[in-house]
Amino acid sequence: MVIILFGAPGVGKGTQAALLAERMNLAHLSTGDAFRNAIATGTEVGKLAKAYVDAGDLVPDDIVTRIVEETLDLPQYTSSVILDGFPRSVAQAEALEVLVAKHNKNIQHVVNISVEGEQIIQRLLQRGRKDDTEEIIRHRMSVYDNETAPLLDFYSRRNGVLKNVDGNADVEEVYKRITAILSRNS
Ligand code: AMP
Repeated sequence: MVIILFGAPGVGKGTQAALLAERMNLAHLSTGDAFRNAIATGTEVGKLAKAYVDAGDLVPDDIVTRIVEETLDLPQYTSSVILDGFPRSVAQAEALEVLVAKHNKNIQHVVNISVEGEQIIQRLLQRGRKDDTEEIIRHRMSVYDNETAPLLDFYSRRNGVLKNVDGNADVEEVYKRITAILSRNS
């Protein structure tokens, strides 16, 4: 089973994915964390990705897809997987279809978390990551609108996988809303 946590930067995907992974014992893949680790340890992928991550641009699809492919091949990812921050473009979603089929998995839930725009900016400014300056946040939000939001249309055409969650609440309340959806199992 594959669960995708979807949404604009700052809606709480990472926080919720980490909670779900810990409490429901799911394997968690955050492509953003994967890039930050690769940059910190100076790997080849890290060198390729750094300028994009620093600028708030999408890392090219082939690099991202390669990371996801390598991760899904790891033994701890053989059962249920939660994806956080991937896919972020139609090309990535199409590549994921192939990977999911290869691993005999299926995308069971695409959980779209939404939070009002200005609130997102305040949340991210408080987080204080290197790519969390106001200018880069606004750029990441426009990248989301232009390149990632079209995936809502892509997944709304898949029978019933897309579920909407209002993320304007505290962490535990949003967690409850998400687990209620996952337990419906459809
Ligand atoms: P995140 O931690 O999800 O906010 O991602 C941080 C940064 O990593 C993004 O601004 C992108 O530069 C890069 N990144 C993460 N996931 C992807 C993805 N699926 N496709 C392209 N770039 C990504």
